[in-house]
Amino acid sequence: MKSYVFPGDIEEDILRISGQPFPYMRTRLFSELVKDSEQMLLSLIGCPNGRVIPYTASGTAAMEAVVANFVSTKQKAFVIAGGSFGMRWKNLCDYYQCPADVFHVDFAKDIDYNALEEAIRVSQPEVLLCQHHETSTGMLYNLSNISAICKKYEVFLIVDVISSFLTDPLNMDELGIDVCITSSQKGLNIVPGLSFVILSERMLHQEFVHKGFYLDFNENLTNLKRGQTPYSPATSLFMQLRARLNMYVQIGVEQLIESRKQKAQYFRSLCAQNGWEMPVEVPSNCITGFFVHHNGDHLFEELLKQDIYIMPGGTPHYFRVSHIGLQSVEELDDLARRIKVIEQMNF
Ligand SMILES: *Cc1c(COP(=O)(O)O)cnc(C)c1O
Repeated sequence: MKSYVFPGDIEEDILRISGQPFPYMRTRLFSELVKDSEQMLLSLIGCPNGRVIPYTASGTAAMEAVVANFVSTKQKAFVIAGGSFGMRWKNLCDYYQCPADVFHVDFAKDIDYNALEEAIRVSQPEVLLCQHHETSTGMLYNLSNISAICKKYEVFLIVDVISSFLTDPLNMDELGIDVCITSSQKGLNIVPGLSFVILSERMLHQEFVHKGFYLDFNENLTNLKRGQTPYSPATSLFMQLRARLNMYVQIGVEQLIESRKQKAQYFRSLCAQNGWEMPVEVPSNCITGFFVHHNGDHLFEELLKQDIYIMPGGTPHYFRVSHIGLQSVEELDDLARRIKVIEQMNF
């Protein structure tokens, strides 16, 4: 099997951890594991004085937690929506009955930052919700520009960095981001099931409300002081997490991002050679999005028959290949060759 989705292929020694004995959660051993992981996550994301709330749940739960505990205390939110993940912010705001204006961005296009500033000036929101990388298309937005606007109009900035963390440069403190959200199966490239809310130092002085029992910030933060989660954590995933963080801290963020960037650039050169249009204006290193010419309605299933996963896009004939997992130049060559063969088949 070869995976170009989330997660991508994972190192054997990290995968094997899930089959090993794991500590009981109410022990000092497990608390240390949680605390170590928190420190490493904070260092990798550039927010040394922040806090990380871990949830045994996928990324959407961490998004929901931020809306329930914090955004819902505000009069108005502002959502940047360049695809399905942007719209998820809007749907969460609707669910928690927090008024939210939406700034729509066209498929695979960058934001018109002047128009964005004007919209925020008119809207006067208290909090802005966006993605760094809109994974449904592959478009990477400019957080420096967004952050500057938020600073100017005194708007809290909450960014879903689920698929840009460790694939594209990101420093929370330097960018002045208040909250980031990420999850286990994207940049960290381990098994799905954990997600993280990273609160900046400034957020630790904010008021949170009690909406959403399991996700409650105050309850989680209180337990976190002793390295615990209020409810049963996915213990073996936490063990995978620590091993993964140790590895990535050792490699270093810049080196890790560089290696992902090189894989992305290599695959993009293959797409160009095959004439597969790559529509994204500013692509993330996380994925390559491209249109095939023929048999877009068969490609996913045909690759699946060959034990290869790629991601179908929401748009017809649009596909996405992730670059976060183990993948060699030869394997990327092989993938492009197989896609080309399927394109030329008669169905
Ligand atoms: C994967 C992802 C999510 C979370 O989706 P889940 O289905 O909950 O894992 C949210 N935002 C972005 C940008 C993502 O890539």
